[in-house]
Amino acid sequence: MTVWLRGDHLVRRRGPVADRPDEPVLMVEAASFARKLPYHPHKLVLLFSAMRHFRDDLRADGRTVHYRQAEDFGTGLRAHFEAHPDDALVTPRPQTERARDRLASLVADSGGTVEFVPDARFLCSPEQFDAWAGDGGAYRHEDFYRFMRRETGYLLDDGEPVGGEWNYDDRNRETPPEGWEPTEPPAFEPDDVTASVVEWVDDAFDGGYAEPPYGGDWADPEPFRWPVTRRQAVRALDHFVTHRLAEFGPYQDAMRDGEWAMSHSLLSTSLNLGLLGPAEVIERAIDAYEDGDAPLHSVEGFVRQVLGWREFVRHVYRREMPDLASANQLGATESLPEFYWDGDTDMACLADAVDGVRKRGYAHHIERLMLLSNFGLLYGVEPSRLNRWFHAGFVDAFHWVTTPNVVEMGLYGAGAFANKPYAASANYVDKMSDHCAGCPYYKTKTTGEGACPFNALYWAFLDRNEDDLRSNHRMGLVYSHLDDKDDDEREAIRDRAAEIRELAERGDL
Ligand code: FAD
Repeated sequence: MTVWLRGDHLVRRRGPVADRPDEPVLMVEAASFARKLPYHPHKLVLLFSAMRHFRDDLRADGRTVHYRQAEDFGTGLRAHFEAHPDDALVTPRPQTERARDRLASLVADSGGTVEFVPDARFLCSPEQFDAWAGDGGAYRHEDFYRFMRRETGYLLDDGEPVGGEWNYDDRNRETPPEGWEPTEPPAFEPDDVTASVVEWVDDAFDGGYAEPPYGGDWADPEPFRWPVTRRQAVRALDHFVTHRLAEFGPYQDAMRDGEWAMSHSLLSTSLNLGLLGPAEVIERAIDAYEDGDAPLHSVEGFVRQVLGWREFVRHVYRREMPDLASANQLGATESLPEFYWDGDTDMACLADAVDGVRKRGYAHHIERLMLLSNFGLLYGVEPSRLNRWFHAGFVDAFHWVTTPNVVEMGLYGAGAFANKPYAASANYVDKMSDHCAGCPYYKTKTTGEGACPFNALYWAFLDRNEDDLRSNHRMGLVYSHLDDKDDDEREAIRDRAAEIRELAERGDL
């Protein structure tokens, strides 16, 4: 028997590697994966370097690792079964039934068998989630989050939420004072293993994110900085809990020009690759609260993201695929504007967010939701196109997490758990950021020259989707504001929205 670890399952202390200490481990480094999309080079370096480090660490501890560099999984598996006829593999269960069937037939076609075991990167099992959700298709995150708090006992005191409230979101929407500077997050300098992967990725994946037709001279990522080993990931966690967790909560929704990390944890890559587990991350944050080092509203806010949202989207994806990937309930048909790739726009907020993606493969949550997705929603980008862009450009992107976040939360594609679209005008961007101060567009103008594109697109979005959205009681107030606009105003808004699309298509926005 051999433990087959796919590249995003680098879990050592739990799961099949820990449960079967005497079995060898198989890892297949499949180059074809890297050609599926124009991936950001840092995403590829992260994945392949983390795999190679994981292999080396296991071998250093005396474990046998069969590490196969192959064009695809099929070739790697065939080579494995030629060398080890009739071997049986055990591997973590993929996110969907279809993916599981695909892997099972791939293994069978390659001459072996495979057993699937629970995915140790998560806390909530499929059985647990299904028992909670029942057959229904409308999922409420807040209910699930409370369910998980009860299941795990995190931040509970005699069955009641610590501090008396389940959720301190209303204290997590502050903007930092003038002169505030977040603590610089750690950067992990490439060692020899990473350096050789950087070289290989540069050579082997021409045509990727940084190359034409998507890129060109503008595509100049900063040096690679993400944790690629368990040791580095633990250092990143320590640093976050010690230096940034206290301010994570209040400034969670805030944006500052040039402050790409704010007080976010930057732990998603390590969690998604299995270098960190959700329980240890949550427990470190709770310890900081209990030791008096971080306030409850920061710690609860962080726990909600990891125990709530991360587990929740994973199961919604499992249950709602394959339909979720192509969901488009608002019938949006636009292409993705070119500036998502090249960052060439005068809109200060979007230019800053895209710049961060180009440089590091990262934007923080509120930039993803309220800038990059919000613009796509208002502009009418077809959801699967924006999903593809997120999937290609972000270091922490995997289909299971990007799809529910982009298609559903960002673009209101299915109505599976979002009960209204996250649509906002320049007013929101101005309230939560300092971008508008340095932007050539006028945040208070809706139409006419120089009016911020978010404004006309916002009203045009409501106008265009009136049949679908007006009856939603959570949209009542915004539609009452649309009703205040007379026919001429509505016409001018439509004209300005059409002009914005033309400008975006010409690369002149
Ligand atoms: P923090 O802000 O510090 O949050 C802590 C942790 O909570 C994250 O590391 C992550 O593990 C978890 N988390 C928070 N929100 C979510 C969420 N909505 N879904 C899943 N996990 C969450 N997350 C990804 O891991 N990969 C993606 O490809 C991804 N794409 C996104 C696209 C859009 C449009 C949106 C709105 C969100 C997306 N997210 C994605 C969720 C979230 O934005 C990122 O997890 C987060 O920004 C990662 O940065 P961080 O580690 O600094 O997170």
